[in-house]
Amino acid sequence: MKQTDVLIIGAGAAGLMCAATAGYRGKSVTVVDMGKKPGRKILISGGGRCNFTNENATPDNYLCQNPHFVKSALSRYSAQDFIELVDRHGLNYHHKTLGQLFCDDSAQDIVDILMTECDWAGVSVNLRSEVLTVEKNDSGYKVTTSGESYQCQSLVVASGGLTMPKLGASPIGYKIAEQFGLNVLPTTAALVPFTLHDHDKQRFDGLSGISVDCLVSSQCGTQFRENILFTHRGLSGPAILQISSFWQAGQSIAINLLPETNIEEVIEQWREESPKKALKNMLATLLPKSFIEAMVKQQEIVDRNINQLTKADVAALSEYLHQWQIKPNGTEGYRTAEVTLGGVDTDELSSKTFESKKAINLYFIGEVIDVTGWLGGYNFQIAWAQGVACGQVV
Ligand SMILES: Cc1cc2nc3c(=O)[nH]c(=O)nc-3n(C[C@H](O)[C@H](O)[C@H](O)COP(=O)(O)OP(=O)(O)OC[C@H]3O[C@@H](n4cnc5c(N)ncnc54)[C@H](O)[C@@H]3O)c2cc1C
Repeated sequence: MKQTDVLIIGAGAAGLMCAATAGYRGKSVTVVDMGKKPGRKILISGGGRCNFTNENATPDNYLCQNPHFVKSALSRYSAQDFIELVDRHGLNYHHKTLGQLFCDDSAQDIVDILMTECDWAGVSVNLRSEVLTVEKNDSGYKVTTSGESYQCQSLVVASGGLTMPKLGASPIGYKIAEQFGLNVLPTTAALVPFTLHDHDKQRFDGLSGISVDCLVSSQCGTQFRENILFTHRGLSGPAILQISSFWQAGQSIAINLLPETNIEEVIEQWREESPKKALKNMLATLLPKSFIEAMVKQQEIVDRNINQLTKADVAALSEYLHQWQIKPNGTEGYRTAEVTLGGVDTDELSSKTFESKKAINLYFIGEVIDVTGWLGGYNFQIAWAQGVACGQVV
């Protein structure tokens, strides 16, 4: 049986950051992961360029049953701290909209930085090692993997959520939490595309690939202003992924297709300037032509000239374009979701160290716990911050 001060389950964002931090403190640290490569989610993130942080990250960008839980780690390790780390390694990166930072070349650069830090800190990373059982004993924890047994003083569970089972997602973290009496909140896929009912799929047939800048609102009033994208399965795009975290089965979402424009005012202007033009042609100057044609074909937008529009037509059009209601059938689920909502209840953990309140020297960090960020680099930022906070104390 191998001895190590700290055993970390999961060579993902949170686990590797924690490992390097603890290693620099002189601890012997071992990371085990069942994957062939470390940081597999980092590698596919941000379309292969890893949106590794968000300069505007605040606690308001996270969903958690206890909204105060994220404050401590986030304030002690900010986006700027991670930027300083990648700068020290000479990473080339660029800013996108809304505070998002991406690698210029490849997400592999972020994994290389983390693995270099782990190497410098003397961490051993054991891949192809699936954790099978965990037992508490007098010296700490005994962890049995597919190839080896380890005895550690401190055990850090950084095994992630349930998204992308193909990339090694497993419920091991929730099982360990339950084994030690910790409450686990129900989990669900988030930052995930919506699927549509058959009648909506037929309505939008042929629109796949079209994207529109919209203001999307959930029934609880949360709003996101970004693109929506029609896909052959349903609706996706950043605004849809964002709102999916606030959506519950059976609810509708409202989409303002023209957030910058008051369509009633625009139609008054068109009445003066182009009264004989067809409404659909004029609308096609504001929205994708194929979308307008499809909606006219479905008789959801009237096929008249501007000067033929009645007051009721204009009111209906305004409601339609500014308050378009869609009731999703569901989501694409864990297969394509970026994150998992819910998980280990934060009431069971210290928000400063991430140690469990019920089992000494047992820690949970990263996506396995009930903290979920918005789309835009927020999830990696909280993983780095929790990894550092935990690595400083294990
Ligand atoms: C397609 C996609 C794109 C994303 N893009 C971004 C982005 O650009 N920016 C952003 O901020 N977030 C992004 N995310 C979210 C982000 O990847 C996660 O929030 C983050 O990776 C969570 O880190 P983690 O360390 O908690 O877990 P993970 O990165 O999931 O790591 C957990 C590790 O534990 C291992 N493991 C699980 N079970 C076992 C077991 N039984 N034994 C051994 N090992 C085990 C897994 O193999 C895995 O390597 C994206 C997610 C996806 C799916």
